Amino acid sequence: MGRPVNAAQQPPRPPVDVAIVGGGPVGLTAALALARRGVTVRVFERLMQPSVEWRASTFHSPTLEIALELGIAGEMLRQGLIAPKAQYRSRTDGLIAEFDLSGLSSETPYPFRLQLEQYKYVDILNERLARTPTAEVRYGVEVERVDTFDTHAEVHGADGLIQKASWVIAADGARSTVRKCLGLSFDGSTYEHRYLVLSLEYPLEELLPDICEVNYISDPKEHLLLLRIPDLWRVVISIPPGVSDEEATSAPFIRKRLTLIVGTSLELPVKEAKIYAVHERVAERLRVGRILLAGDAAHINSPMGGMGLNSGIHDAYDAAVQLLGVIRGEQDASCLDAWAERRRAVALEEIQRLTRETTQALAQKNPVKAESYQRMMAETAAEPERARQWMLDASMISNVRRHRLPPRTGRWALG
Ligand SMILES: Cc1cc2nc3c(=O)[nH]c(=O)nc-3n(C[C@H](O)[C@H](O)[C@H](O)COP(=O)(O)OP(=O)(O)OC[C@H]3O[C@@H](n4cnc5c(N)ncnc54)[C@H](O)[C@@H]3O)c2cc1C
Repeated sequence: MGRPVNAAQQPPRPPVDVAIVGGGPVGLTAALALARRGVTVRVFERLMQPSVEWRASTFHSPTLEIALELGIAGEMLRQGLIAPKAQYRSRTDGLIAEFDLSGLSSETPYPFRLQLEQYKYVDILNERLARTPTAEVRYGVEVERVDTFDTHAEVHGADGLIQKASWVIAADGARSTVRKCLGLSFDGSTYEHRYLVLSLEYPLEELLPDICEVNYISDPKEHLLLLRIPDLWRVVISIPPGVSDEEATSAPFIRKRLTLIVGTSLELPVKEAKIYAVHERVAERLRVGRILLAGDAAHINSPMGGMGLNSGIHDAYDAAVQLLGVIRGEQDASCLDAWAERRRAVALEEIQRLTRETTQALAQKNPVKAESYQRMMAETAAEPERARQWMLDASMISNVRRHRLPPRTGRWALG
């Protein structure tokens, strides 16, 4: 064990404590949380190697506390960019509100957002897992079905049974094969707009000197997010339904959008342009017998607020803490039902609510409502106690307190 293996068609291995479907950030977080406590874990990832696609790049403070617990926070901080501030702006009126997260220093050791690409987080996890004897990550293995029995679960690939395990975590993303094969609904809706995500290799701060690392910009026609990450700027632009993906990723369209943002018609070097649809969905159940659904397999939401991956990592960590107790015989399996209810409530009541509110406010078409939102944000930022409460919500600290995420910072849950 210990090394990533490319193995499409190998005979079943000896049973493990936990099999994980999906070697994305959520599956690998669960793998590391369990394996470093001696639990045998095998991860099955259908890609031949880790994905380098850009998706999430924001890590909030409770997630960094989990990373500390997992022994990877130092490496994340070394590779990432610390973003102490976030701004809300209006396209027409400029700065509306600025929040300085360092005001949360009495609440968390990490009073900031860490900007770090998701694939770098996956690399850090893979590097640690490769040095963890009870873990194995198998690339190039597509799971087709998972069955759950009274005593164990079975993971099947195209050629039949590939793994028996006491428990399975399905972290196989939004189109989860496991969720589908369990017949679980994934109810919710798809937003009207999509997002065009541009990677800009240009110091945008030189053209827009008063922005900070995280900038949400409201506009009834085209709301924006300008996000600085270690090597680039990411520009996320809402695209209305009438514009095709092809048109939205064409050079003239992009040039026009960027000219509107920076106010001058410079040729800005665009490294990558991608379109993302925005969905808001939650699986009807997160536990079926010996199978737990985590991350995007269980819930998806608007990227505004940067909470999707973070809540998936929280699912994984909480699941690992509960499973560890069950495997060690310290708690009975009913704690997994409580986990499933808790994490589903977080997805519906916290993550969906906050990311939807942010998205709707940024996209508000009614000028009276847009102005009232901007006034509310300006007043919130100006009043210290309201600003503190807002930052506790935006950094996900309130939600992990309300929904009892197992404690972090070393002394706690995984000891
Ligand atoms: C544009 C964009 C921006 C975002 N920004 C943020 C942000 O700033 N902050 C934030 O918190 N979140 C953000 N998100 C959300 C975040 O990217 C996802 O929540 C995150 O990727 C979920 O991780 P996951 O491991 O659950 O799923 P995934 O990353 O989708 O990983 C699932 C893995 O399972 C594998 N797999 C799938 N099916 C099988 C199978 N049958 N057998 C074996 N393997 C399989 C896949 O190949 C994949 O590697 C953003 C998303 C988008 C699209």
